[in-house]
Amino acid sequence: MKILIADIPDEGLEVDITEKVSLDDVSQPSTVKARLDVTKAEQEIIIAGSLQAELQLQCSRCLRDFRRSLDIPVNVVYHPLEEEKKGERHELMDDEMDLGFYRDEIDLQELFREQILLNTQMKPLCDEQCKGICPHCGTDLNISACDCSSRQTDPRLEVLRKLFDKGKE
Ligand SMILES: [Zn+2]
Ligand SMILES: [Zn+2]
Repeated sequence: MKILIADIPDEGLEVDITEKVSLDDVSQPSTVKARLDVTKAEQEIIIAGSLQAELQLQCSRCLRDFRRSLDIPVNVVYHPLEEEKKGERHELMDDEMDLGFYRDEIDLQELFREQILLNTQMKPLCDEQCKGICPHCGTDLNISACDCSSRQTDPRLEVLRKLFDKGKE
């Protein structure tokens, strides 16, 4: 959904929508629900509210797919694009707010995508404690253990062992 700036009435706009948003490499397209207040303050457009989304992610350690629900507060101030071109600096009064620019419309898809990506780790984990996959045999260590690590010798111990062997000669 796109909001035409000219269509925003002086008293503001309440938006209640459900939209499918594509999320590039991070997740399969996700259905986003949002409740937003759109208000005009002279040249600025303020969008505030929250969005909910359920993402289908892949764990960066064990490669399993998992779902994660997001509930993100939205607080964005949009300025006219010409201001950005002129290089005007914008001091944000509130660091909780994000900054955006508009030409003559605001694309909510774009807003949702940005907000979700900002709130998603680049390397998602199914669980902070995820043990991942053994790099030697490929066993998912969350499901079962393997004995690769016990078979491997610590390189520091290896040095000691050689010294010890030498001493025996
Ligand atoms: Zn995992
Ligand atoms: Zn292993």
